[in-house]
Amino acid sequence: MKDIVSLCKRRGFIFQASEIYGGVNGFWDYGPLGVELKNNIRDLWWKTMVITPPIGPDGKPLQIVGLDTAIIQNPQLWKASGHIDGFSDPMLDCRETKLRYREDKLIALKPKDSQGHGFVFHEDAEQPDIESRLKKLAKGKSFIDFETVPLPNIDYSEYSNLVGPDTKTAGTLTEPKEFNLMLHTYLGAASGLENKAYLRPETCGSIFTNFKNVVDTSRVRIPFGIAQIGKSFRNEVTPRNFIFRSREFEQMEMQFFCDPKDDIKNWFDFWKETRKKWWLNIGLSENKLHFHAHSEEDLAHYAKNGVGAFDIEYQYPFIAPNFDELEGIHDRSQFDLTQHESLSGKKMQYQDLQTNEWFTPYVLETAAGLTRGVLAILCEAYTVDETRPSGMYMNFHPSVAPKKAAILPLVAKDGQPEVAQKLYMSMREHMNVDLDIKQNIGKRYARQDEIGTPFCVTIDPKTLEDQTVTIRERNTMAQERIHLDKVLEYIQQKIAS
Ligand code: ATP
Repeated sequence: MKDIVSLCKRRGFIFQASEIYGGVNGFWDYGPLGVELKNNIRDLWWKTMVITPPIGPDGKPLQIVGLDTAIIQNPQLWKASGHIDGFSDPMLDCRETKLRYREDKLIALKPKDSQGHGFVFHEDAEQPDIESRLKKLAKGKSFIDFETVPLPNIDYSEYSNLVGPDTKTAGTLTEPKEFNLMLHTYLGAASGLENKAYLRPETCGSIFTNFKNVVDTSRVRIPFGIAQIGKSFRNEVTPRNFIFRSREFEQMEMQFFCDPKDDIKNWFDFWKETRKKWWLNIGLSENKLHFHAHSEEDLAHYAKNGVGAFDIEYQYPFIAPNFDELEGIHDRSQFDLTQHESLSGKKMQYQDLQTNEWFTPYVLETAAGLTRGVLAILCEAYTVDETRPSGMYMNFHPSVAPKKAAILPLVAKDGQPEVAQKLYMSMREHMNVDLDIKQNIGKRYARQDEIGTPFCVTIDPKTLEDQTVTIRERNTMAQERIHLDKVLEYIQQKIAS
């Protein structure tokens, strides 16, 4: 992870927000290359979900329409969704360090012989760090002398014997308490309870409240989807692991409205597979993606009788060999529309045109993290290769790569820069390309490898004789000679494949 984070800063993918003032925990700024990568992932999602939605299991093209709603909504929305009363995590503090932790993200190592202290770690602590901490604090004991227990399974009465994650003394951890994760602000000049408003913790809330508007103003018929991409905010207690868990992040969500009499399981399986395939298509590898079924106790109460919930999980390097969430495929049943109907007093039902029957649609959701997707793609792409001057390269799929090609004259003379410039001017109309004339060619290749440009087009003396250039493929470093006129088409085909 350290190498990935430092590359991101060095090459302008991601910076700490307010870095010159020491940063602000849980917030990140996307640099010139990061914003391109993020926008490419975002646009590909929008294209596959909204512009050309997939063909459904019944062979018919699906209808999905988009929305772009306000971040701040009437607080009643979050009352109805359950976020005001229930969107919380159990948290505990360390009295000594004043650090705060999420209970479900901690594990304890309890001595098997019940002698001496137990030690608490973050769930993603690395083995060498665990070993070295035990060596310092656990008097002659090592990892094998302990059993691993998730902290929520440990009774508070046993805390006096536990040493917290960032201290050397036992008994400093407080009892876990519920902590609401919504960020809030006050609207207007006064800051009283009556003008308290929340920054949305997920993008789907306002999809539900606009359900009737969409049905009444567009020609969608059930089953159909409503999609939205945008910022969400959660006052995460321990923002960690670079952009994985941040306080401001972006989501790409789609609510799929079905007839409750439809084969819901069939639709659910369809969305699970469709979404996983999408991540594979943009470059994640099959062996690093898997489904994780929510256990019965993890399921939202309204989903208990439905088809369940699955997360698409990715094997991020900070948690490998384990996996963590990238996208959730959830059964939301009729919960949200029913809640909004009862709190607003407005009918949130749908009328079947053939039978004239009114019903509350059944909702399945695909809830992906855009910024978490950026992280997964960055982690997947980082490839060590000691044989190159850069020591590594970013193996981005051409469709998400921030720069699609670099145009490099071998030398900055003999008419080569002019040819390069001409090619650049014709290609920049179609894609994001770099023109790089200075430095020796090895250094320029190294830079493009680090930023993951899939193709380098080199102009050399032969180009001036026969109008051909070499195209260097980033991963194999293989070079192919093609005619100048064919360069654009060649790269366009690779991006689309
Ligand atoms: P977690 O268990 O990791 O807190 P969640 O199950 O609460 O996540 P959802 O509410 O299902 O997450 O949100 C859908 C997606 O939004 C997640 O799969 C994830 O990709 C993204 N997401 C949620 N919280 C964050 C965050 N704090 N930072 C970045 N992405 C997030």
